[in-house]
Formats: sequence, structure tokens, C-alpha cells
Amino acid sequence: MRVLITGGAGFIGSFLTEKLVESGFDVIVIDNLSSGDLGRLSDVIDRIRFVKDDLKNPSDPEAFQNVDTVFHLAANPEVRISVTEPRTHFDENILVTFNVLELSRKYGIKNIVYASSSTVYGDARVIPTPEDHPIQPISIYGAAKAAGEVMCGTYARLYGMNCVALRYANIVGPRLRHGVIYDLLMKLRKNPEELEVLGDGTQEKSYLYITDTINATLMAWEYAVKNSGVYVYNVGNWDLINVREIVNIIVKVSGFNPRITYRPATPDGRGWPGDVKRMLLSIDKIVREVGWKPNMSSKDAIETTAKALSQELGV
Ligand code: NAD
Repeated sequence: MRVLITGGAGFIGSFLTEKLVESGFDVIVIDNLSSGDLGRLSDVIDRIRFVKDDLKNPSDPEAFQNVDTVFHLAANPEVRISVTEPRTHFDENILVTFNVLELSRKYGIKNIVYASSSTVYGDARVIPTPEDHPIQPISIYGAAKAAGEVMCGTYARLYGMNCVALRYANIVGPRLRHGVIYDLLMKLRKNPEELEVLGDGTQEKSYLYITDTINATLMAWEYAVKNSGVYVYNVGNWDLINVREIVNIIVKVSGFNPRITYRPATPDGRGWPGDVKRMLLSIDKIVREVGWKPNMSSKDAIETTAKALSQELGV
């Protein structure tokens, strides 16, 4: 069976690609390598078809031919940038999703798995946040992800596809090149004496390890195909961890002893305008319906990732 992964040279996409190749699928990856890196696919590059293409303006639509499922992960995942560059996020996250859905419709693709995000909820009133909580994003990134979910669901209902949107918490693991762990390690690599942290350090969020994420993605896909229809699942952890605890882990892993300063960007201590202060998703629905559950806590996921990235980055 042939599957297509957009953004397959990215952090999550490369692990998904490896897993699907190992499971015997015929895998096509489309990626423009903007934040992707073919090095992440070195173990499987001989066993996939890689198409370097920009999905803002697809030039190889036939890559969508005879595909059973599209895993749509291509996006700009930098929430912070979306606040100052809304147009970039409109193009990379909304236009790209529209183009992927149009090609999927044109080529009669039956199943879409969409990488959404916890940021669709904004500052949630209910924590842990269930899927039926109001969608009120506070970043352009979150708004773009919400728009993508609605478009995927509508295409599925209108054109007879199955669609599953996965609202990922913060996903971490080896090969990660954005987010708090990566940023802090890069700062320490540049200057081991000082560490500036965005926000007042009280921001609390839930983190999920990459292998747990890939399992959730594949299990939710199988569930949607088997049961047909449109599904939305939170994919997160049971617990959360605050930025001060993360800083302690990173400093310990690095072996440095920097002077730490916290830089709140808003009166209530956020790292940047549009930064969600507290995020913990309810995962009851995916546990109950799909039968998935996470194996690693937020803290263990952070520790394991910090060790892996410190080696990869030479910190
Ligand atoms: P990533 O940046 O590592 O991967 C995104 C990939 O998409 C990259 O390889 C990039 O080159 C590719 N891409 C971007 N624009 C493209 C375009 N116009 N055409 C073709 N390819 C393009 O990010 P990631 O962390 O692996 O995230 C994967 C998906 O999961 C994204 O949709 C992201 O928004 C979503 N997500 C990630 C997290 C997280 O914590 N990592 C959390 C929630 C949602």
C-alpha cells in the first residue's frame, strides 16, 4: 500500500517515514527541505521515493497518484514566528493544506491524517482540555492549524474521505530542531556562562516523546480507516512540566553553570505574545476509543531529548 508523507524530512515526519518503511509500506515523501533535512532519512532514503517540492506551488502533482493515505505534516511549526509573520504562516500552513487537500481530491485519495496542534485551544478554560472545548487560538499558528482541521474535515465529508486530525502537545525527541530544549541548548553552546530564558519560567506544558507520538499517529489512522468518518484526537501526556524545571534539566545535562535570567514578554509572564501559558490536553478520548496511551512522562521525555540533542549539537 502506498502512503504519502508531506514534511517527511522534518522531525516528526522522519520518524513516521522510518516506521512506515519498516512496516512494509511504499512511502513517498514530499518536502521542500525548508526546515527538513535529508540526513534524517539516511537510513531509509534508498527505500522511499523522495520528491523535493514546495507544496505552496506543487510542481509534481502526480506524486499523489495511487496513494491510499496522505499524512500531512508539512508546515512551519514556529509558533513564535507566526505572531510577527502571519503571512508566512498563512502560506505554509493554510495554503499548503489547501493544496494538499485539492490534490488528494483530484487523485481520489481516501484517507488524510492531519498534524494539528494543542495551540488551537488558546488559553483553555478547562484543564485537562477535552476535544470539545471551544477553539480560540491566540497565535496565527494556532489559527492556521484550526483552519486546516476544518478544511480536512470538510473535504472528508464532502468528497467521501476519512480524516483524522491529531492535536499534538509539544512533541520532543532526537532530531528536534525547534522549541524550548533546542533553543536553550543552542544558547548554551554559544555562551555557556549565561542563559536567557523566554518568559518568567512558570509556563507549564505537556510534552510527549516521539515514539509515543508515532504510535498514537498510526493507531489513530488505523482506527479512522477501520471505522470511516472524521475524527479529532488530542495526542499528549498525562502530566505537564514548567519551564523552570526544564531549565534545570538542560543545565544539568549540559554540565555548565550559567547565570540564568528570565525574560517575560507579557505582564503575566509569557515567553512571547501568543505563547499559551498552561497546556495539558485530556487524552481520555484517544485512550478510550483508539486504545493508545503514552509510555513516557513529560519529564522523562524532556530528559531523554535533552541528552540526545546535547550529543547531536555538541553541547
Ligand atoms: P519540522 O519543521 O521538523 O517539519 C516540517 C517539515 O515540513 C520540514 O521538513 C519542512 O521542510 C517541511 N515543509 C515546510 N513547508 C513546506 C512546503 N511549503 N512544502 C514542502 N515541505 C514543507 O516540524 P515538526 O516538529 O516535525 O512538525 C511536523 C508537523 O507537526 C507540523 O505540521 C507541525 O505544525 C505539527 N506539530 C508539531 C509539534 C511539535 O511539538 N513538534 C506540535 C504540534 C504540531
